[in-house]
Amino acid sequence: MKKLIFVCCAVLCASILSFAQSTTKKSITATSGETYVQKQGSYTPSFAVDGKQTKVKNVILLIGDGMGWGAVNSAMYGNGGELTMTNLQVWGSTRTQSADAFTTDSAASGTAYSTGEKTNNGYVGVAADGSRLENLPEKLSELGYVSGVVSTDDLHGATPAAFFAHNSARGASEAIWANLPSSALSFASAGTSKAFENLELKTREEISRVFSVVYSPDDEAVKGSGRLLYLPESVKADRGDYLPRTTQMAIDYLSSKAGKGFFLMVEGARIDKEEHGNNYPEMVFETLDFDKAVEVAVRFAEKDGHTLVIITADHETGAVCLTRGEPADGFVQGTFSSKGHSPMMVPLFAYGPHSTDFSGAQENSEVGQKIFSLLSARK
Ligand SMILES: [Zn+2]
Repeated sequence: MKKLIFVCCAVLCASILSFAQSTTKKSITATSGETYVQKQGSYTPSFAVDGKQTKVKNVILLIGDGMGWGAVNSAMYGNGGELTMTNLQVWGSTRTQSADAFTTDSAASGTAYSTGEKTNNGYVGVAADGSRLENLPEKLSELGYVSGVVSTDDLHGATPAAFFAHNSARGASEAIWANLPSSALSFASAGTSKAFENLELKTREEISRVFSVVYSPDDEAVKGSGRLLYLPESVKADRGDYLPRTTQMAIDYLSSKAGKGFFLMVEGARIDKEEHGNNYPEMVFETLDFDKAVEVAVRFAEKDGHTLVIITADHETGAVCLTRGEPADGFVQGTFSSKGHSPMMVPLFAYGPHSTDFSGAQENSEVGQKIFSLLSARK
Protein backbone atom coordinates (compact mmCIF):
# COMPACT_ATOMS: atom_id res chain seq x y z
CA MET A 1 0.00 0.00 0.00
CA LYS A 2 2.81 2.38 0.99
CA LYS A 3 4.47 1.60 -2.30
CA LEU A 4 1.27 2.39 -4.22
CA ILE A 5 0.87 5.75 -2.43
CA PHE A 6 4.49 6.55 -3.23
CA VAL A 7 3.99 5.72 -6.92
CA CYS A 8 0.77 7.79 -7.04
CA CYS A 9 2.55 10.77 -5.41
CA ALA A 10 5.46 10.46 -7.83
CA VAL A 11 3.11 10.40 -10.84
CA LEU A 12 1.15 13.40 -9.47
CA CYS A 13 4.33 15.38 -8.81
CA ALA A 14 5.67 14.57 -12.26
CA SER A 15 2.45 15.69 -13.93
CA ILE A 16 2.31 18.93 -11.88
CA LEU A 17 5.92 19.58 -12.82
CA SER A 18 5.34 18.92 -16.50
CA PHE A 19 2.19 21.10 -16.40
CA ALA A 20 4.20 23.88 -14.78
CA GLN A 21 6.91 23.49 -17.42
CA SER A 22 4.45 23.56 -20.30
CA THR A 23 2.78 26.66 -18.81
CA THR A 24 6.17 28.32 -18.48
CA LYS A 25 6.92 27.43 -22.09
CA LYS A 26 3.65 28.94 -23.25
CA SER A 27 3.81 32.05 -21.09
CA ILE A 28 4.58 35.10 -23.18
CA THR A 29 6.78 37.93 -22.08
CA ALA A 30 6.30 41.16 -23.93
CA THR A 31 9.26 43.28 -24.98
CA SER A 32 8.56 47.01 -25.39
CA GLY A 33 10.29 49.55 -27.54
CA GLU A 34 9.78 53.15 -28.57
CA THR A 35 11.13 55.59 -31.11
CA TYR A 36 10.91 59.13 -32.46
CA VAL A 37 10.56 58.90 -36.22
CA GLN A 38 12.50 61.00 -38.70
CA LYS A 39 9.43 61.92 -40.77
CA GLN A 40 9.34 61.36 -44.53
CA GLY A 41 6.86 62.36 -47.23
CA SER A 42 4.16 60.15 -48.62
CA TYR A 43 2.46 60.13 -52.01
CA THR A 44 -1.22 60.04 -52.89
CA PRO A 45 -2.04 59.13 -56.50
CA SER A 46 -5.02 60.53 -58.44
CA PHE A 47 -6.93 57.19 -58.42
CA ALA A 48 -7.92 57.88 -62.07
CA VAL A 49 -7.11 54.30 -63.14
CA ASP A 50 -7.66 52.66 -59.76
CA GLY A 51 -10.00 49.68 -59.91
CA LYS A 52 -10.69 50.12 -63.65
CA GLN A 53 -11.41 46.83 -65.41
CA THR A 54 -8.82 47.55 -68.12
CA LYS A 55 -5.92 45.35 -69.27
CA VAL A 56 -3.05 45.01 -66.79
CA LYS A 57 0.31 45.28 -68.58
CA ASN A 58 2.73 45.26 -65.65
CA VAL A 59 2.53 44.00 -62.06
CA ILE A 60 4.75 45.17 -59.21
CA LEU A 61 4.40 42.97 -56.11
CA LEU A 62 6.00 44.44 -52.99
CA ILE A 63 6.45 42.04 -50.08
CA GLY A 64 7.27 43.44 -46.65
CA ASP A 65 8.80 40.41 -44.96
CA GLY A 66 7.12 40.02 -41.56
CA MET A 67 5.06 43.20 -42.08
CA GLY A 68 1.84 42.82 -40.12
CA TRP A 69 -0.59 45.49 -38.93
CA GLY A 70 1.62 46.24 -35.90
CA ALA A 71 4.52 47.28 -38.13
CA VAL A 72 2.27 49.25 -40.52
CA ASN A 73 0.49 51.08 -37.64
CA SER A 74 3.79 51.87 -35.90
CA ALA A 75 5.37 53.28 -39.07
CA MET A 76 2.21 55.16 -40.12
CA TYR A 77 1.50 56.90 -36.79
CA GLY A 78 5.22 57.53 -36.23
CA ASN A 79 5.26 59.23 -39.64
CA GLY A 80 2.53 61.66 -38.57
CA GLY A 81 -0.35 59.38 -39.63
CA GLU A 82 0.54 58.71 -43.25
CA LEU A 83 2.32 56.26 -45.52
CA THR A 84 2.01 55.86 -49.27
CA MET A 85 0.63 52.34 -48.77
CA THR A 86 -2.08 53.49 -46.35
CA ASN A 87 -2.94 56.44 -48.67
CA LEU A 88 -4.23 53.86 -51.15
CA GLN A 89 -7.95 53.08 -51.27
CA VAL A 90 -8.10 49.33 -51.96
CA TRP A 91 -7.23 47.30 -48.88
CA GLY A 92 -7.52 43.60 -48.19
CA SER A 93 -6.01 40.87 -46.05
CA THR A 94 -3.90 37.85 -46.85
CA ARG A 95 -4.02 34.49 -45.06
CA THR A 96 -0.55 32.98 -44.92
CA GLN A 97 -0.83 29.39 -43.60
CA SER A 98 1.48 26.89 -45.35
CA ALA A 99 0.65 23.36 -46.50
CA ASP A 100 2.15 21.76 -43.39
CA ALA A 101 1.99 24.47 -40.72
CA PHE A 102 -0.46 26.98 -39.29
CA THR A 103 2.41 29.47 -39.01
CA THR A 104 4.30 29.81 -42.28
CA ASP A 105 7.90 30.69 -43.05
CA SER A 106 9.09 32.92 -45.88
CA ALA A 107 9.92 29.97 -48.16
CA ALA A 108 6.40 28.50 -48.20
CA SER A 109 4.68 31.89 -48.37
CA GLY A 110 7.05 33.22 -51.06
CA THR A 111 6.33 30.06 -53.07
CA ALA A 112 2.56 30.59 -52.63
CA TYR A 113 2.92 34.09 -54.14
CA SER A 114 5.32 33.02 -56.89
CA THR A 115 3.55 29.80 -57.99
CA GLY A 116 -0.05 30.09 -56.77
CA GLU A 117 0.36 26.86 -54.76
CA LYS A 118 0.70 26.25 -51.02
CA THR A 119 3.74 24.22 -50.00
CA ASN A 120 5.63 23.10 -46.88
CA ASN A 121 7.75 25.36 -44.70
CA GLY A 122 11.32 25.40 -45.94
CA TYR A 123 10.35 24.61 -49.56
CA VAL A 124 11.27 27.04 -52.32
CA GLY A 125 9.56 26.70 -55.73
CA VAL A 126 8.60 23.06 -55.15
CA ALA A 127 5.26 21.51 -54.16
CA ALA A 128 4.57 19.70 -50.87
CA ASP A 129 5.32 16.40 -52.69
CA GLY A 130 8.70 17.78 -53.80
CA SER A 131 7.75 18.24 -57.47
CA ARG A 132 8.90 21.36 -59.32
CA LEU A 133 6.40 24.25 -59.53
CA GLU A 134 6.54 26.83 -62.30
CA ASN A 135 6.94 30.32 -60.87
CA LEU A 136 5.42 33.57 -62.22
CA PRO A 137 8.58 34.67 -64.12
CA GLU A 138 8.71 31.23 -65.84
CA LYS A 139 5.01 31.16 -66.71
CA LEU A 140 5.08 34.79 -67.88
CA SER A 141 8.22 34.47 -70.02
CA GLU A 142 6.32 31.95 -72.17
CA LEU A 143 3.81 34.75 -72.81
CA GLY A 144 6.43 37.37 -73.71
CA TYR A 145 6.86 39.16 -70.35
CA VAL A 146 10.15 39.98 -68.62
CA SER A 147 10.62 39.70 -64.84
CA GLY A 148 12.83 40.95 -62.05
CA VAL A 149 13.44 40.78 -58.31
CA VAL A 150 14.87 43.31 -55.83
CA SER A 151 15.51 42.48 -52.16
CA THR A 152 17.31 43.72 -49.08
CA ASP A 153 18.07 40.08 -48.28
CA ASP A 154 20.71 37.99 -50.01
CA LEU A 155 19.53 36.72 -53.39
CA HIS A 156 19.43 33.17 -51.99
CA GLY A 157 17.06 34.37 -49.23
CA ALA A 158 13.73 32.49 -49.28
CA THR A 159 11.56 35.29 -50.74
CA PRO A 160 13.68 36.24 -53.78
CA ALA A 161 14.63 32.55 -54.26
CA ALA A 162 10.94 31.60 -54.59
CA PHE A 163 10.88 33.62 -57.83
CA PHE A 164 13.78 31.83 -59.54
CA ALA A 165 14.83 28.64 -57.69
CA HIS A 166 13.47 25.16 -57.01
CA ASN A 167 14.73 23.44 -53.88
CA SER A 168 13.15 21.68 -50.90
CA ALA A 169 15.87 23.12 -48.63
CA ARG A 170 15.72 26.91 -48.33
CA GLY A 171 19.18 26.88 -46.76
CA ALA A 172 20.89 25.28 -49.79
CA SER A 173 22.32 28.64 -50.87
CA GLU A 174 24.89 27.39 -53.41
CA ALA A 175 22.26 25.25 -55.20
CA ILE A 176 19.78 28.16 -55.13
CA TRP A 177 22.31 30.53 -56.75
CA ALA A 178 23.08 27.78 -59.29
CA ASN A 179 19.42 27.94 -60.43
CA LEU A 180 19.81 31.60 -61.47
CA PRO A 181 21.22 31.10 -65.01
CA SER A 182 18.32 28.83 -66.02
CA SER A 183 15.72 31.10 -64.37
CA ALA A 184 13.37 33.45 -66.21
CA LEU A 185 14.69 36.61 -64.50
CA SER A 186 16.03 39.48 -66.60
CA PHE A 187 16.88 41.68 -63.61
CA ALA A 188 18.02 40.65 -60.14
CA SER A 189 19.41 42.80 -57.36
CA ALA A 190 19.95 41.76 -53.76
CA GLY A 191 22.80 41.29 -51.30
CA THR A 192 25.69 41.18 -51.75
CA SER A 193 28.87 41.34 -53.78
CA LYS A 194 30.48 39.26 -51.01
CA ALA A 195 27.75 36.59 -51.09
CA PHE A 196 28.44 36.25 -54.84
CA GLU A 197 32.23 36.13 -54.42
CA ASN A 198 31.89 33.39 -51.82
CA LEU A 199 30.21 31.08 -54.34
CA GLU A 200 32.11 28.27 -56.04
CA LEU A 201 33.96 29.39 -59.17
CA LYS A 202 31.80 27.18 -61.40
CA THR A 203 28.55 28.77 -60.11
CA ARG A 204 29.96 32.28 -60.62
CA GLU A 205 31.13 31.45 -64.13
CA GLU A 206 27.77 30.02 -65.13
CA ILE A 207 25.93 33.08 -63.77
CA SER A 208 28.37 35.48 -65.48
CA ARG A 209 27.88 33.71 -68.80
CA VAL A 210 24.17 34.64 -68.76
CA PHE A 211 24.02 37.81 -66.63
CA SER A 212 26.07 41.01 -66.77
CA VAL A 213 27.23 41.15 -63.13
CA VAL A 214 27.78 44.66 -61.74
CA TYR A 215 28.60 46.02 -58.28
CA SER A 216 27.45 49.56 -59.04
CA PRO A 217 24.28 50.86 -60.74
CA ASP A 218 26.50 53.27 -62.73
CA ASP A 219 28.65 50.50 -64.23
CA GLU A 220 29.02 50.88 -68.01
CA ALA A 221 28.00 47.24 -68.44
CA VAL A 222 24.42 48.06 -67.38
CA LYS A 223 23.75 49.68 -70.76
CA GLY A 224 23.52 47.13 -73.47
CA SER A 225 23.24 44.18 -71.08
CA GLY A 226 20.66 41.52 -71.92
CA ARG A 227 20.14 40.36 -68.33
CA LEU A 228 21.47 42.15 -65.27
CA LEU A 229 22.62 41.07 -61.80
CA TYR A 230 23.41 44.09 -59.60
CA LEU A 231 25.04 43.18 -56.29
CA PRO A 232 25.47 46.05 -53.80
CA GLU A 233 28.10 46.06 -51.09
CA SER A 234 25.50 46.09 -48.32
CA VAL A 235 21.78 45.54 -47.93
CA LYS A 236 21.84 46.21 -44.18
CA ALA A 237 20.88 49.43 -42.36
CA ASP A 238 23.89 51.26 -43.90
CA ARG A 239 22.58 50.69 -47.45
CA GLY A 240 21.27 54.27 -47.87
CA ASP A 241 18.48 54.60 -50.45
CA TYR A 242 19.25 51.19 -52.05
CA LEU A 243 15.68 49.82 -51.90
CA PRO A 244 13.73 52.74 -53.50
CA ARG A 245 16.61 53.55 -55.90
CA THR A 246 16.92 49.95 -57.10
CA THR A 247 13.13 49.61 -57.40
CA GLN A 248 13.30 52.56 -59.84
CA MET A 249 16.30 51.00 -61.60
CA ALA A 250 14.44 47.68 -62.02
CA ILE A 251 11.32 49.44 -63.37
CA ASP A 252 13.44 51.38 -65.90
CA TYR A 253 15.40 48.28 -66.90
CA LEU A 254 12.37 46.02 -67.30
CA SER A 255 10.37 48.74 -69.11
CA SER A 256 13.18 49.04 -71.67
CA LYS A 257 13.10 45.27 -72.31
CA ALA A 258 9.38 44.63 -72.02
CA GLY A 259 7.63 43.62 -75.18
CA LYS A 260 4.34 42.67 -73.62
CA GLY A 261 4.94 43.95 -70.10
CA PHE A 262 6.83 43.08 -66.92
CA PHE A 263 6.52 41.51 -63.50
CA LEU A 264 8.65 42.83 -60.63
CA MET A 265 8.88 41.55 -57.05
CA VAL A 266 10.39 43.92 -54.47
CA GLU A 267 11.09 42.67 -50.96
CA GLY A 268 11.67 44.73 -47.82
CA ALA A 269 13.43 41.85 -46.10
CA ARG A 270 14.73 43.44 -42.94
CA ILE A 271 11.40 44.29 -41.28
CA ASP A 272 11.25 40.60 -40.32
CA LYS A 273 14.88 40.47 -39.21
CA GLU A 274 14.40 43.41 -36.79
CA GLU A 275 11.18 41.86 -35.45
CA HIS A 276 12.99 38.58 -34.74
CA GLY A 277 15.38 40.66 -32.60
CA ASN A 278 12.44 42.58 -31.06
CA ASN A 279 14.12 45.79 -32.17
CA TYR A 280 11.19 48.23 -32.37
CA PRO A 281 12.96 51.40 -33.64
CA GLU A 282 14.71 49.47 -36.45
CA MET A 283 11.44 47.68 -37.37
CA VAL A 284 9.80 51.11 -37.80
CA PHE A 285 12.80 52.37 -39.81
CA GLU A 286 12.69 49.33 -42.14
CA THR A 287 8.92 49.67 -42.69
CA LEU A 288 9.37 53.35 -43.59
CA ASP A 289 12.16 52.46 -46.02
CA PHE A 290 9.90 49.84 -47.61
CA ASP A 291 7.20 52.52 -48.00
CA LYS A 292 9.68 54.62 -50.05
CA ALA A 293 9.94 51.70 -52.50
CA VAL A 294 6.11 51.52 -52.50
CA GLU A 295 6.06 55.23 -53.44
CA VAL A 296 8.39 54.60 -56.41
CA ALA A 297 6.08 51.81 -57.65
CA VAL A 298 2.85 53.80 -57.16
CA ARG A 299 4.30 56.90 -58.90
CA PHE A 300 5.23 54.70 -61.88
CA ALA A 301 1.76 53.10 -61.92
CA GLU A 302 0.12 56.53 -61.83
CA LYS A 303 2.15 57.70 -64.84
CA ASP A 304 1.87 54.42 -66.77
CA GLY A 305 -1.86 53.73 -66.28
CA HIS A 306 -1.55 50.00 -67.05
CA THR A 307 0.44 48.90 -63.99
CA LEU A 308 -1.04 47.13 -60.99
CA VAL A 309 0.81 47.53 -57.67
CA ILE A 310 0.19 45.05 -54.84
CA ILE A 311 1.72 45.56 -51.41
CA THR A 312 1.47 42.78 -48.83
CA ALA A 313 3.57 40.53 -46.56
CA ASP A 314 4.57 36.88 -46.43
CA HIS A 315 3.62 36.61 -42.72
CA GLU A 316 3.60 38.63 -39.53
CA THR A 317 6.62 38.48 -37.21
CA GLY A 318 6.91 39.37 -33.53
CA ALA A 319 3.16 39.61 -32.76
CA VAL A 320 3.67 43.37 -32.77
CA CYS A 321 1.21 45.74 -31.13
CA LEU A 322 1.25 49.54 -31.17
CA THR A 323 0.56 50.66 -27.60
CA ARG A 324 1.13 54.43 -27.48
CA GLY A 325 1.77 57.27 -29.87
CA GLU A 326 2.06 61.02 -30.39
CA PRO A 327 1.83 61.27 -34.20
CA ALA A 328 2.49 65.03 -34.23
CA ASP A 329 5.84 64.46 -32.50
CA GLY A 330 6.64 61.26 -34.41
CA PHE A 331 6.60 59.25 -31.19
CA VAL A 332 5.44 55.63 -31.17
CA GLN A 333 5.72 52.83 -28.63
CA GLY A 334 4.94 49.17 -29.18
CA THR A 335 5.39 45.68 -27.82
CA PHE A 336 6.45 42.33 -29.23
CA SER A 337 4.97 39.20 -27.70
CA SER A 338 7.03 36.80 -29.81
CA LYS A 339 10.47 36.44 -31.34
CA GLY A 340 9.10 34.28 -34.13
CA HIS A 341 6.48 34.41 -36.86
CA SER A 342 2.77 34.60 -36.04
CA PRO A 343 -0.18 33.10 -37.97
CA MET A 344 -2.17 36.36 -38.17
CA MET A 345 -3.56 37.66 -41.46
CA VAL A 346 -1.40 40.35 -43.03
CA PRO A 347 -2.47 43.59 -44.74
CA LEU A 348 -2.72 43.98 -48.50
CA PHE A 349 -2.93 47.29 -50.39
CA ALA A 350 -3.48 47.57 -54.15
CA TYR A 351 -3.43 50.33 -56.74
CA GLY A 352 -4.08 50.40 -60.48
CA PRO A 353 -6.36 48.54 -62.91
CA HIS A 354 -8.08 45.53 -61.29
CA SER A 355 -6.89 46.59 -57.79
CA THR A 356 -10.37 45.78 -56.43
CA ASP A 357 -9.84 42.10 -57.39
CA PHE A 358 -7.58 42.00 -54.31
CA SER A 359 -9.95 43.47 -51.70
CA GLY A 360 -11.35 41.26 -48.94
CA ALA A 361 -9.61 38.25 -47.44
CA GLN A 362 -7.66 35.84 -49.62
CA GLU A 363 -4.98 33.18 -49.41
CA ASN A 364 -1.39 34.12 -50.36
CA SER A 365 -1.61 31.46 -53.10
CA GLU A 366 -4.71 33.20 -54.54
CA VAL A 367 -2.74 36.44 -54.89
CA GLY A 368 -0.23 34.56 -57.09
CA GLN A 369 -3.05 32.98 -59.11
CA LYS A 370 -4.80 36.33 -59.67
CA ILE A 371 -1.58 38.01 -60.85
CA PHE A 372 -1.07 35.28 -63.45
CA SER A 373 -4.66 35.32 -64.65
CA LEU A 374 -4.61 39.13 -65.06
CA LEU A 375 -1.36 39.10 -67.04
CA SER A 376 -2.41 36.13 -69.17
CA ALA A 377 -5.85 37.59 -69.95
CA ARG A 378 -6.31 38.86 -73.50
CA LYS A 379 -8.16 42.01 -72.40
ZN1 LIG B 1 11.35 35.45 -40.30
